[in-house]
Amino acid sequence: MDFKEKIRVIPDFPQPGIRFKDITTLLMDGKAYQAAINELVEKLKGTEIDLVVGPEARGFVVGAPLAYALGVGFVPVRKSGKLPAETIEVKYSLEYGKDALAMHKDAIVPGQKVLIADDLLATGGTISATLDLVKQLGGEPVGASFFIELSYLNGRQKLEGLDIISLVQYE
Ligand code: IMP
Repeated sequence: MDFKEKIRVIPDFPQPGIRFKDITTLLMDGKAYQAAINELVEKLKGTEIDLVVGPEARGFVVGAPLAYALGVGFVPVRKSGKLPAETIEVKYSLEYGKDALAMHKDAIVPGQKVLIADDLLATGGTISATLDLVKQLGGEPVGASFFIELSYLNGRQKLEGLDIISLVQYE
C-alpha cells in the first residue's frame, strides 16, 4: 500500500516553514491503519520483543496496536506530571521546543527486550529521551518503529546502533 498517499502534509504548522506530516488521514482509513500496523509487524519478524514503549500522544496510536498485534505489553511514556505512580524523568529537546518525558519506575523488568514506537522520527530527540528512560530501567532496546521518517533530519545518526524501521520516508 502507498502509505504516503494517505498522509496529509500541512504547510506552516505549528510554525512557519514546517511542513507537518498529518497521520490523522491515514488513521481515519481503517484498511490503511491496519495495513500500516501489519507491515510494521512483518518488518519486525525475527526480532525478539517483550514490551513496546511509546511516547505520548501519537506513540500510543502506533505502539498500542503494535503491542496488541505482537501479543506483548505496552508502556506509555508521558509528559512530566501525568503518570500517577512513581516515575523517572528525562529532559529533552524537540524539533521545535523543549520538554521532559516520564515513565513509571516499575514499567520495565531489567533485561526485557524493548521496542520503541512513535508516529514519526524527526531529529530523534524524543526517541533518544525514551531510550534513556528504557536504559535507566534496565530494558534492552531492540529497535524503534515509525510510520514516518524525515530522513533529512538524520534522526538515525542520533540513534546509532538502534535498528530503525519506518514505512514512509521524506528526503
Ligand atoms: P523528534 O524528537 O525531533 O524526532 O520529533 C519527533 C516527535 O515530534 C514525534 O513524537 C512526532 O509526533 C513529533 N513531530 C515532529 N514533526 C512532526 C510532523 O511533521 N508530524 C507529526 N508529528 C511530528
